[in-house]
Amino acid sequence: VIEVRHLKKSFGDRVILKDLNFQVNKGEVVCVIGASGSGKSTLLRCINLLETPTDGEICYKGENILDEKHNIAQYRTKLGMVFQQFNLFENHNVLSNCVVGQIKVLKRTRAQAEEVALKYLKIVGMDQYIHAKPRQLSGGQKQRVAIARALSMEPDVLLFDEPTSALDPEMVGEVLKVMKDLAEAGLTMMVVTHEMAFAREVSDRVVFMDDGYIVEEGSPEEIFNAPKEERTQAFLKRYL
Ligand code: ATP
Ligand code: MG
Repeated sequence: VIEVRHLKKSFGDRVILKDLNFQVNKGEVVCVIGASGSGKSTLLRCINLLETPTDGEICYKGENILDEKHNIAQYRTKLGMVFQQFNLFENHNVLSNCVVGQIKVLKRTRAQAEEVALKYLKIVGMDQYIHAKPRQLSGGQKQRVAIARALSMEPDVLLFDEPTSALDPEMVGEVLKVMKDLAEAGLTMMVVTHEMAFAREVSDRVVFMDDGYIVEEGSPEEIFNAPKEERTQAFLKRYL
């Protein structure tokens, strides 16, 4: 679905992403792992165009969306994003959080949007909380609402940036469980995570980044059981 070619990103004279190449195929779960500062968030932010790449191509269904002529707004609706800090609308209740984007961006009626939202709130186990405000929810519950909100837009690809890093340890499991269910249901997902057990169990492919490069990518078996590169080995040692 997404293919990244020779992607580069600099901030001023600091080069953050250095010639990245990879793809995410339909139905695949790709986990991105790597040390803090290696460029994982910047990569996700380039893919959903929260940052403008300095060079290279991002192809969506074969078309380079960085071409002038490409409809970026249209492309954005095809991507869902889940952030570390949830980014819910604090003054909207749970249902409304999942409805406003559908009405504004997808031009659905409120009735349609609520129906869709309820469907996904049920999937993440938050349909009992539709009238709650975000501040009344635990971190794990907030993140499940954020996932339902992203799903309500029915994107082709879901991007996750460390979705469990801001959670208390006892809430990590409930969010990973939802993500695992989505993976098994065939959703296309790209997940930046420090949860190595999750990456190992759920992903089809693991990408290891270091210092702005993709150092190594492969199946979970290849990356976790037999990493080829020294830098991958050194990184994983810290998690064993
Ligand atoms: P972490 O695991 O801590 O989230 P990361 O792999 O997501 O790290 P990024 O957030 O992508 O890393 O950051 C990579 C580098 O880019 C860092 O050195 C960071 O300081 C720098 N950087 C990120 N955003 C900007 C920005 N808007 N302006 C300047 N430098 C930035
Ligand atoms: Mg990050």
